[in-house]
Amino acid sequence: MKTRGYAAHAADKPLTPFEFERRAPGDRDVLIEIDFCGICHSDIHVARNEWGRTVFPCVPGHEIIGRVAKVGKDAKRFKEGQRVGVGCFVNSCRTCASCQRGHENYCEKGFTLTYGSVDADGTNTLGGYSSRIVVDEHFVVNIPDGLDPAAAAPLLCAGITTYSPLREVGLKKGSRVAVMGLGGLGHMGVKLAASFGAEVTVLSHSPAKEADARRLGAHEFVPTSGDGALDKLAGRFDAILDTISAKHDVNGPLGCLRPEGTLILVGAAPTNLEVSPFALIFGRRKMMGSLVGGIPETQEMLDHCGRHGITSDIELITPDRINEAYERTLKGDVKYRFVVDCAKF
Ligand code: NAP
Ligand code: ZN
Ligand code: ZN
Repeated sequence: MKTRGYAAHAADKPLTPFEFERRAPGDRDVLIEIDFCGICHSDIHVARNEWGRTVFPCVPGHEIIGRVAKVGKDAKRFKEGQRVGVGCFVNSCRTCASCQRGHENYCEKGFTLTYGSVDADGTNTLGGYSSRIVVDEHFVVNIPDGLDPAAAAPLLCAGITTYSPLREVGLKKGSRVAVMGLGGLGHMGVKLAASFGAEVTVLSHSPAKEADARRLGAHEFVPTSGDGALDKLAGRFDAILDTISAKHDVNGPLGCLRPEGTLILVGAAPTNLEVSPFALIFGRRKMMGSLVGGIPETQEMLDHCGRHGITSDIELITPDRINEAYERTLKGDVKYRFVVDCAKF
């Protein structure tokens, strides 16, 4: 099926309009007409080959919202016209221990990313900066009524990537959490942590974001630039959610954890970070990584957002502004997620 989209053809070239074929829906597939797709910083890392594994042409996009246009004969979970979403992956082995637990995102045999993975038929998967997509129904989620569909798109990555580890560390009413980096992930982290009843502090290298941080639900805002900026926070937090997309110091933030607290790393800087052993040894502090979330937990997060009326703060753009949106995201000039209007492809 002919599909229109935008693709990167080389790491140092802008994305351009691109036409390609999607497979016809199989028996367990759902054909989705895409309405909106968020722009995640991971799209930029991949389009520019910053993680070193990009296959070109690359159609990024894994924060997909659309409507079901057709279902295969064995696909029973969705009806035509239903509002649905697709996140960061579209297949996994479904038999390993992780898949059996609903943690398809940690599939032991490796999962199939929404873009940039080898699909079952040997082709390279192409993502959501496009007019339609065909996905096995297992990897499609329902979008609660009442959520604005464009503003709900970022929940499919930024939402679940912050929800999952905050739940995993047991964040609850009265917990103290810091969110480092107020971008797409960070602003969802603030909203979700506040919705769990936690006391939220934003650590940001952009002092101008203070008013926004408070509006989003933060109780405190601490600018991180300048020597000694974190001194007054020593031993404070149960958890820190680190969403920073570039190389940065983690030893100072580790000192802001209470004993046995956890620094959750979700930001995926292309360069290694340096950790002092002492920052972890003293106080038995922990550092964990986390990668998006499994399908059951993604649905749980969406239902939570439906109940609490949580969506992303977005700037809706037409496809011809994708390259400009990349530049503005890199400068931190976005409030707080760009979403592409995919009806315009
Ligand atoms: P984003 O919107 O660009 O936000 C990143 C934020 O990091 C910026 O707003 C900025 O916040 C801070 N920052 C950027 N450069 C910095 C620097 N040099 N020093 C200190 N702080 C800096 O990006 P995003 O879409 O939220 O993604 C964030 C990272 O998470 C990316 O690396 C992305 O690939 C990764 N990611 C991981 C997963 C996962 O499953 N683990 C999922 C999605 C994305 P302030 O201005 O407030 O300082
Ligand atoms: Zn993402
Ligand atoms: Zn598996």
